[in-house]
Amino acid sequence: MSLSELQELEHQYVVPAYARMPVQFVRGDGARLWDDDGTEYLDFQGGLAVSSLGHGHPAVVAAITEQAAQLIHVGNLFYTEPGMRLAQRLAQGSLGGKVHFANSGTEANEAALKVARKARQGGDVISLHRGFHGRTYGSLSATPQEAKQAPFAPLVPGFRAVPPTADAVTAAVDERTAALILEPIQGESGVWVLDDELLQAARAACDEHGAALIFDEVQCGLGRTGTLWAYEDAGVVPDMLTTAKALGGGLPIGALICGPRFADVLEPGDHGSTFAGGPVACAAAHAVLDVVEDPLLLRRVRELGERLMDELATLPGVGEVRGRGLMLACELEQQGAPELVRRALIERHLLLNATGPGTFRLLPALTLTDADADEALARLRALLA
Ligand SMILES: *Cc1c(COP(=O)(O)O)cnc(C)c1O
Repeated sequence: MSLSELQELEHQYVVPAYARMPVQFVRGDGARLWDDDGTEYLDFQGGLAVSSLGHGHPAVVAAITEQAAQLIHVGNLFYTEPGMRLAQRLAQGSLGGKVHFANSGTEANEAALKVARKARQGGDVISLHRGFHGRTYGSLSATPQEAKQAPFAPLVPGFRAVPPTADAVTAAVDERTAALILEPIQGESGVWVLDDELLQAARAACDEHGAALIFDEVQCGLGRTGTLWAYEDAGVVPDMLTTAKALGGGLPIGALICGPRFADVLEPGDHGSTFAGGPVACAAAHAVLDVVEDPLLLRRVRELGERLMDELATLPGVGEVRGRGLMLACELEQQGAPELVRRALIERHLLLNATGPGTFRLLPALTLTDADADEALARLRALLA
């Protein structure tokens, strides 16, 4: 079908919840995508931090096709091996403890919030300004953005947000606090790296008052910033860790990793999800972890990220460059990021993402080659000139 036919179908039959760009993609390979005319694009958006191995990675494709041919679904009333082994791998590679599977980032956060409230028999949830935790009611209640929350009021009671500073966090957490949830690197609001002092203050406040410290690494985890988990950089270990986006190599999967203190809070019947932990998504996740756990890849992500940061800062019209590894944002000296992102796609065949009126974000594949990095910089330079 042509793009205009798809647009007509959308217009008639699809709830208008998304603002789509006028391109139909039909194929991908590594950092490249092709539209229905055969035009090639360079993907620096990565499906919003999902496609961290690039498109069509052979190990992911093989894992999915082999598992699909064996068994696609049986549900959580029985055992299947990929999920049990994935739980072991995620727990051993992070907090210890135990894992609960979900199908998305927002669901992983819902599970974390439910565990925290059950453990405390109630209590408040504190989140940070500029944070983003998802669109379902619990996660949305922890996402303090007027435009996203207001149409859907009333939200879940007992949630409040404070500024992302060590002092504000220390003042906010008390014996009524069930959980403090934060992204160590805030993605959706424009890639803000929270400083170590804040994370240490969060850890200390939660320890003092017995609250759960939840790190939402749905976007910044799984090697995106050059360590397997973003928390490793600051050396502050949360009580619970959520992951999703890149975990399934493009298939929907999320996970809550509960450290030892929270590992046995949920009991049978407390919480669950029909598709969660299914063998195909978990097989894909094993293939993703095989790649992103490699220390050489992680070092490469850090080094390439540093080079990109330096080079982005030399582009005309670019002010501050923020981020770590391959999770980067550029602040433009003038507003107009959404228009720049649109022109990058249409005129230069480069996929970027605008996080605000003056900010665009780069989330390329972690397997990005130097040649593709240079090519993207050249296209951006030409666009900004
Ligand atoms: C994308 C995102 C979510 C929500 O994930 P979904 O899979 O869209 O539900 C939650 N937290 C962070 C930090 C995210 O970037």
